[in-house]
Amino acid sequence: TIRTRFAPSPTGYLHIGGVRTALFSWAFARKHKGAFLLRIEDTDQARSTAESVNIILDGMHWVGLHYDNADNVVYQTRQFDRYKEVIAQLLEQGHAYHCYCSKEELEAMREKAEKEGTATYDRRWRPEPGKTLPPVPEGVEPVVRFKSPLEGNTVWHDLVKGEIAIPNEALDDLIIARADGTPTYNFCVVVDDHDMGITHVIRGDDHVNNTPKQINILKALGTTPPQYAHLPMILNEQGKKISKRSGDTVAITDFDAMGILPEAMLNYLARLGWAHGDDEFFTMPQFVEWFDLKDVSPSPSRMDMKKLLWINAEHIKATPDDKLAALVLPRLHVRDIRETAKPALEDVLALVKERAQDLNQLADECMYFYKKGTPAEADTAKHWDDEAAARMLRFAEQLEGLADWNAEAIHDLFKPFCEAEGIKMGKLGMPLRLAVAGTAKTPSIDAVLALLGKEEVLSRIRA
Ligand code: GLU
Repeated sequence: TIRTRFAPSPTGYLHIGGVRTALFSWAFARKHKGAFLLRIEDTDQARSTAESVNIILDGMHWVGLHYDNADNVVYQTRQFDRYKEVIAQLLEQGHAYHCYCSKEELEAMREKAEKEGTATYDRRWRPEPGKTLPPVPEGVEPVVRFKSPLEGNTVWHDLVKGEIAIPNEALDDLIIARADGTPTYNFCVVVDDHDMGITHVIRGDDHVNNTPKQINILKALGTTPPQYAHLPMILNEQGKKISKRSGDTVAITDFDAMGILPEAMLNYLARLGWAHGDDEFFTMPQFVEWFDLKDVSPSPSRMDMKKLLWINAEHIKATPDDKLAALVLPRLHVRDIRETAKPALEDVLALVKERAQDLNQLADECMYFYKKGTPAEADTAKHWDDEAAARMLRFAEQLEGLADWNAEAIHDLFKPFCEAEGIKMGKLGMPLRLAVAGTAKTPSIDAVLALLGKEEVLSRIRA
């Protein structure tokens, strides 16, 4: 069965590029009824923090990408015994060797290699039949290097980029264990991918250069390497690699704060580098059904905030009102609205949800149902004067006389009232909006009045 993994390094926030990688790995596993696993690559102990592990776990929870090893997430820092065991095995089988080079020696090699365009390390400590190795210097702890193949190419058929062949002479004899015995990055990845039974490695194409190294180690371990799929970068709207440093929004929590729905986030990210005909708005079950790595584009895709907001608006419309209420409620609390029973928030959302592109706008649209707003000066100047005020009081009387309080009955008052006053509908509607909602922008005002309730409406007008 198919097994994929998401392997973030917990060194900061959860990046949307990472989430897109996770999404494709997840969808591929789900589509093929396989497993999707999470591995925390925390071997860089100087940069990894427990806090950013939590940020990753929370972020995965927020977007709703469930991994199958939730009770058993792999942390590389807990695998050190296993890495040591494999290093010993490679040494014993002659696939790795000790290297005692000093910093100065390596620096000299680097300079020479740069001039000649060859592999950096001159393989001075690599044992070969008939070769005499230098004398072991005293008091030097050696690193362990992997015996990379010297001839031919390392080739793989990348499921996104097609065939990639790297000449082996360009590959160094990679250090797999440092002088202090700690294993290095590429080596840990290899051991974990092997031990976790990963069949498909789906990751960012910044790892293409690591792949031949990883394939060669896997071959030395006597296993068949997984298949690889390298996803192209996400660019910002200016066409540069997206990054926090350039001021781009990249942390998944920032999209949450912007009021993006997790479903919309995933829907949008799915379209970054993958397409299914002209379909822009879809659900995750649809995505899983449609997803295929062969439809992933090998070239980079560009971030488009406008489109993200459009997709978000579509998801807001498609979300059931009770679910939406649960999402908007905390945003109303932040806006100092604590009481949302009268009118029921779900009913308010049903009326206003078409008017918002994000959950913050949506919360703003709900505000005046719970607390009358303060009209903008420009609106007051345009729509409010003594005449309008007197007219509103006359209209309040009409409203008070209504036996049934519903949008239709309220609507039926408009025409006769305007005729009697000799005015156009706008001369009633706008001042009424300002008097009742405190804003000129509302959905149809009869529906707003109906929801607010007679008592509240009368008291707001008269106030
Ligand atoms: N930890 C790596 C990263 O955060 C991913 C490595 C991999 O997927 O093989 O970019």
